[in-house]
Amino acid sequence: MKYIVVSGGVISGIGKGVIASSTGLLLKTLGLRVTAIKVDPYMNIDAGTMSPTEHGEVYVLDDGGEADLDLGNYERYLDVTLSRDNNITTGKIYREVIEKERKGDYLGKTVQIVPHLTNAIQDWIERVAQRPVDGSGESPEVCIIELGGTVGDIESAPFVEAMRQFQFRVGHDNFALIHVSLVPVIGGEQKTKPTQAAIRDLRGLGLVPDMIAARCPVPLEPAVINKLSMFCHVGPEQVMAVHDVSSTYHVPLLLEEQGMVRFFQKRLGLDVNGSIPRPM
Ligand code: ADP
Repeated sequence: MKYIVVSGGVISGIGKGVIASSTGLLLKTLGLRVTAIKVDPYMNIDAGTMSPTEHGEVYVLDDGGEADLDLGNYERYLDVTLSRDNNITTGKIYREVIEKERKGDYLGKTVQIVPHLTNAIQDWIERVAQRPVDGSGESPEVCIIELGGTVGDIESAPFVEAMRQFQFRVGHDNFALIHVSLVPVIGGEQKTKPTQAAIRDLRGLGLVPDMIAARCPVPLEPAVINKLSMFCHVGPEQVMAVHDVSSTYHVPLLLEEQGMVRFFQKRLGLDVNGSIPRPM
């Protein structure tokens, strides 16, 4: 199983969901079976009790799970049917750990965020990523994990730490990270400093970006791509410029034109037919 985490910096609502769905769609075009998990770092168990005027419409899954609209994006882009477990919230994961503690599963240990909560997050992801979602009855080969919120928030900290550990649990060849960031245009100039700061925060938490998706109202200038590469310590091919488009269904094309598929094929060892070499 290959895992691609999509995190975000600078501001919320930056387009992580669209990048996550688009990445999944591109890998699906290689013939890979793709699933998705959304992490929502709020204490609500699910979006069912949240005001639609504040949070947007609730998306109801086939099993009755009430989730964020991003789950709807995944279902549409990837042509899959997800379940309530494809949405992890802070509320759900705390509930699971607390229920285990009450049953005595931790055998008298002091139950802590690290390692108990972070382990529960990783176990959950590994368990749910395996579930068939496309009607073929076969396990997916790639799991896209979207980390809601912004890296650096108190709310998302346990999930960020869980992902830091997870890269070692599953191995470098099976784990990649896309960080979505903002390049604002001020006085006609495309500014890279917020992205530089966001990437510094990310690295400080032990996560290394394999790809930076730079959201900008207008197409990024080549000089700005080079500057991002230089100051964020990634190759220019690891910077994806994602400007505002009239329909978010254009985003997969933008990413494809910039070589995203080629990059992940190489980075995660996906062969040209899309099949992942299996261990002997
Ligand atoms: P996040 O997951 O970071 O909260 P979303 O993916 O839900 O963000 O996107 C937030 C809003 O921005 C949505 O309404 C989405 O349609 C819009 N959006 C995302 N990417 C683009 C883009 N490249 N061009 C135009 N609108 C976009």
